[in-house]
Amino acid sequence: MTFSFYVPPADDRSDLVWPTLEDRMVAVDTVRRLKEKHPEFVRNRSRALDLMAPDRAPAVTAACLAKRTVLPLYLEGDRLVTPFCCYGNDVDCSRCGAWVVFELAAGSAASGDREPVAGSR
Ligand code: SF4
Repeated sequence: MTFSFYVPPADDRSDLVWPTLEDRMVAVDTVRRLKEKHPEFVRNRSRALDLMAPDRAPAVTAACLAKRTVLPLYLEGDRLVTPFCCYGNDVDCSRCGAWVVFELAAGSAASGDREPVAGSR
């Protein structure tokens, strides 16, 4: 199982969103505990979860590797269009919790991380 966290639209003040990155850590730490108990079942890398910490996540999302390497295609009528990123045009990058963003950062050559993803070959 892979846990991906909410990617809020800009100015989202709904109950769906964690108000701050600090608030989100309750859920991130829950995933971390689940991974400790079930390392073969939870695919999120420990380093990716580490990168979601409030003192690290802003640098990760500001240099979003998913935006640079993932080509999103949305069907609009009878043609394909490319939105701002795979989460659409209306996004709040500063509170983005997309698994792919932190996974790519954790796996980047610069991170030095070689932790395999559970279930991967
Ligand atoms: S909202 Fe989109 S561009 Fe912004 S950090 Fe998340 S995936 Fe990257």
